[in-house]
Amino acid sequence: MKIFLSKNKLIKFIQNEKDLGFVPTMGAIHRGHISLFKRSISQSKKTIVSIFINKQQFNRKSDFKKYPRVLKKDISVLKRLKVDYLYIPSNDQIYPRGPNKRINVGVFGKKLCGKFRPGYFEAVVDVIDRFIKIINPKRIYLGEKDMQQLKIIEHFIKKNYNNIKVIGCKTVRARNGIAYSSRNSLLSVAEKKIASKIYNFLDNKKNHLIDKKISFNDVKNKIFKLGAGKIDYIDLLDVNKLIKPYRQNIKYRIFIAYYLRTTRLIDNI
Ligand code: AMP
Repeated sequence: MKIFLSKNKLIKFIQNEKDLGFVPTMGAIHRGHISLFKRSISQSKKTIVSIFINKQQFNRKSDFKKYPRVLKKDISVLKRLKVDYLYIPSNDQIYPRGPNKRINVGVFGKKLCGKFRPGYFEAVVDVIDRFIKIINPKRIYLGEKDMQQLKIIEHFIKKNYNNIKVIGCKTVRARNGIAYSSRNSLLSVAEKKIASKIYNFLDNKKNHLIDKKISFNDVKNKIFKLGAGKIDYIDLLDVNKLIKPYRQNIKYRIFIAYYLRTTRLIDNI
């Protein structure tokens, strides 16, 4: 695996790659990420992974500071998986003249996480746009774990880059139901148990929510009882009606963002 810290060296080295699969990450590699790498490796001639903790998309300094950083371990995992290229840029390489303030993420970008983290999706789209300009990939691999992000980036790419395909990959979960996430390492054993209970509760009640046999209030109360500190949002939405053009078949997901102590977790079930 070839590791690049320099943007110019990377651009020069990959300029003739016409079949690149790109997996953007913030590091602290886990099984969810690995499923994306494997998908890219199976579909693309070469796979490039980026590790970049995008400061722009953090509202709170403390959240950015405590984000897990395990670069050495990440590199050994990526090498073992035979990823071709790893790009680890500095902030200055990505934002030589500061962030782009003119990104428009549309109505859906202001909902759910966009409502509770103002500017979040604008920053996510900005950084992806910057990576695309550097890497020029044929495919970008993103996880359904971050469904809102996936839909917003998909929409942005369809509008701005007609030759790049976005591949959405299923959420990978541990046996207890918790979706793998870099932030899980910030949870105590007891908190992981709570997260597992919340996932299983929601998974069981999904059809009742669809049939309106249970109210969101009852669901919220139960989640608090299970141990959640705060719920930013919980909603049942048709994934195919999130962003126009709408697709016909209905595909409901429960979207949730909640806190366990100071750790914010999101999921869609
Ligand atoms: P992150 O490093 O958290 O920015 O995630 C990088 C990519 O991995 C994003 O496209 C995420 O949606 C995806 N991802 C994160 N967790 C999972 C998971 N448990 N299953 C599938 N994809 C995931």
